[in-house]
Amino acid sequence: MFKKILIANRGEIALRVIRTAREMGVKTVVVHSTADEKSLPVLIADEAVCVGPPASNASYLNIPNILSAAMMTGAEAIHPGYGFMAENPDFAEMCREHGIVFIGPTPESMRALGSKAGGREIAAQSNVPVVPGTGVLDDVDAALLAAKQIGYPVLLKASAGGGGRGQKVVRTQEELRGAFGQAQEEARLYFGDPAIIMEKFLEEFRHVEVQVMGDGQGHVIHIGERDCSIQRRNQKLIEEAPSTLPESLRQEILDAGVRLARHVNYAGAGTLEFIVDRDGNYYFMEMNTRIQVEHCVSEEISGLDFVRLQLQVAAGEGLHLRQEDVRLRGHAIECRINAEDPDKDFRPAAGKIEDIHFAGGPGVRVDSHAYSGYVIPPHYDSLIGKLIVWHENREQAILRMRRALEETVIHGPKTTVPLYVKIMDNPFYKRGAVMTNFLRTRLEV
Ligand code: ADP
Ligand code: ADP
Ligand code: MG
Repeated sequence: MFKKILIANRGEIALRVIRTAREMGVKTVVVHSTADEKSLPVLIADEAVCVGPPASNASYLNIPNILSAAMMTGAEAIHPGYGFMAENPDFAEMCREHGIVFIGPTPESMRALGSKAGGREIAAQSNVPVVPGTGVLDDVDAALLAAKQIGYPVLLKASAGGGGRGQKVVRTQEELRGAFGQAQEEARLYFGDPAIIMEKFLEEFRHVEVQVMGDGQGHVIHIGERDCSIQRRNQKLIEEAPSTLPESLRQEILDAGVRLARHVNYAGAGTLEFIVDRDGNYYFMEMNTRIQVEHCVSEEISGLDFVRLQLQVAAGEGLHLRQEDVRLRGHAIECRINAEDPDKDFRPAAGKIEDIHFAGGPGVRVDSHAYSGYVIPPHYDSLIGKLIVWHENREQAILRMRRALEETVIHGPKTTVPLYVKIMDNPFYKRGAVMTNFLRTRLEV
């Protein structure tokens, strides 16, 4: 096992990695920006290195400074968390060139799966269904032709996009004429790559994703699936495991996920995202080649520590788990606590947390870097913590989440906590009748 690793991330995920590393006797170095000097991971890591000013481009995305920090401190491996460098194959390759282990898949499989166009191609090769759509579209004429075949409305997606950004719904031919060039321009600006693909725009569906682990030697297992249908602006708010899908469909999607990951000889933790429609059709959307924000719900029902598994695979110790060793039990729900105002279109609410008190008791887990007196910097995303509960079944888990939300006290910025109380009381949610349009159609606010 590694003696020392560097964590190229911030917030709750940096803390998450430190916790497992410490339990394994692995020393930690965390890099940070000047805005995060007083953040919890910086305070508790064995070492901390400032790599730049607040702007992510100058700090958390500053490859030369991060690699220098690793070499200076003698870290043997880098854990990228999620976001920032986690899905950047160039960074993974530079780590390799500098003799530092990147804790994640190879740059080759990241490259193959990294773009939405590439992901669709690999899905087709592994006989996994994708949403009706296209590869990269050369120009507006190609787009118009494709839309005619697919049928409106269609969705334009930046092939290199992520984090729910870089998507545009187009409902008519006239609209598409104007939107296509604009989408290319925005994709170039935000993701450094103008490539655009098109998919049929589906109005109503569930987001279901498969958690996989691979050893890079052809051995791939799944650790169940998650339902992440409660979203705002294509970003997840509440996730749960397992999903409420019928058992045969569940199994089919799990098999499809494993098949695809095996096809690319996947190493480490990964997630395959699927759309499931009302009629039980399922389509592969994309693979996230990293640990996911919502990995905790899968940890809770499997009793496994995904960061530990990631470190073991990266250190060359392999994956000592067969599919039949994975036993899933009970039901877990996660609420992402965001510092934002749900009544004002989820506008971010930075500032000082005057007082914070988390829930506790049986079956409650909190992963958060926030503390009383912590000032939320305005430069990064608004996630200040995750509240996770486990119980024997979904009904009890919902009641437990409601109890835990009521115990949670946050004075200072507005948060999404009150919204989640309403959701836990919602009859549609309780029945599991939830699709990604839930907030717009099923919640009276
Ligand atoms: P998850 O399914 O784990 O929520 P997301 O795709 O929503 O995954 O992204 C997780 C994190 O990574 C979020 O903090 C998001 O803001 C960030 N992120 C994802 N893709 C990008 C990207 N291309 N550029 C910048 N940040 C990203
Ligand atoms: P990202 O990389 O930004 O996470 P995804 O392709 O995973 O991009 O899509 C993010 C979200 O956008 C999905 O969870 C889903 O809610 C929505 N979405 C994706 N594809 C479609 C589609 N074809 N039709 C309608 N909504 C979609
Ligand atoms: Mg996604």
